[in-house]
Amino acid sequence: MYLHIPFCRINCNFCSLHRSLLRDDGELESYLSALLRELGEFGDHLGILGSPRMSTLYIGGGTPSVLRIEQLNRLLDRVAVFAPQGVPVEATIECAPDAGRDAAYWTSFLGALATRTRLPITRISVGIQAWRDHALRRMGRGSTKRAVIELLRAADCLLPSYNVDFILGYPREECTVAGQAVEILEAVHDLRELGFSLPSVSVYQLWDVEEIPVLRRRPHEMPSADAVIEALWTIQRGLYGMGYVPGAGTTFVRGEEHRHRWTVHRCREFRHLGFGSGSYSFLPGGFVQRGRDVDGYKRVLSAPHVSWTEIDDRLNTVFRLTAEDVEIRRIIVGLRSGTPVPLVEADAVESLRLGELRDKTRRLCRSGVLEERTGMIALSEDAFMLTNAVSAFLHPADVPRNSAGSAL
Ligand code: SF4
Repeated sequence: MYLHIPFCRINCNFCSLHRSLLRDDGELESYLSALLRELGEFGDHLGILGSPRMSTLYIGGGTPSVLRIEQLNRLLDRVAVFAPQGVPVEATIECAPDAGRDAAYWTSFLGALATRTRLPITRISVGIQAWRDHALRRMGRGSTKRAVIELLRAADCLLPSYNVDFILGYPREECTVAGQAVEILEAVHDLRELGFSLPSVSVYQLWDVEEIPVLRRRPHEMPSADAVIEALWTIQRGLYGMGYVPGAGTTFVRGEEHRHRWTVHRCREFRHLGFGSGSYSFLPGGFVQRGRDVDGYKRVLSAPHVSWTEIDDRLNTVFRLTAEDVEIRRIIVGLRSGTPVPLVEADAVESLRLGELRDKTRRLCRSGVLEERTGMIALSEDAFMLTNAVSAFLHPADVPRNSAGSAL
């Protein structure tokens, strides 16, 4: 289950997530009441479908840590009905470092959440983004390295696992993308020297999408796809050297137990795949586009009585897939999620798009990005950081996904 808290106290200029600046506590309280009401209705709906089976919970945003402990407890109490009895749930909440909060604040905040009897929080995700205070200021973060350290002090003592995120490719005059890769490795090294276990590290590439304010102002400063891939390669080598292994997506972990179940689920089972802006989910025989129709969301959520069918009709666009589409997506998504998939059949070349896909997968096999074994192909472990670039490259040329794949 994913719950979104669309409010922040800061306005980072690289952010494309759906959120707004928090004006007052009343706004937060009314959103929370709407969310609790919706969860109640969802619970009624689920009652028809059978017993609860939630295995992971992710509270993201925005900045969910703007909620007070008492508000989060209300939310978690409501969500707990979706958790099966006696089965541990991986429950994550995103926390933003905050210049006004010290280790004592975070110890009390995380301590209260981690020691809940039902549905305790087991994991947090912390957006560090950059390891230079001047870069953080330019991003509009309003926090510093010090603020990160204060938060991690509490997380390291209280939680079985946590993740830190870094951003790669933010336009910085004084630091190229290659320099940013080195800076990320330095940050991991420094934090480990300070005694933090840092069990999971994610690296996000700044996407070239129009919702990102800093790119609207300085689009020419985006690094080239080749430079980003080289930088990702540097990070991968550096983190392997520090004992990390591949997690899921572009996350590195210090052991299987820190693999984020939510991300694994999203990559493998849910078949989530971004094609440009908005996200698409696969359903049997079709896929659903969830566009960023913020006004549509507001209209639907403010209507007094809306059925699930209406919500689906208004917020989603469902496309039917042809057999060829299904085949192409099965291969791309399979490779992306690390699952071996069969080679594209020779007689499939009568379809132009499948022919294109077959040629591209052969090229990737020759270059070692893909490995071929007994008629199956899979992403080589060394190419783990290239998953996004590989899926962009394999995407049919008539519906290109983004420029990252061209570097391959
Ligand atoms: S990066 Fe995080 S804290 Fe910054 S504006 Fe986006 S959601 Fe809010």
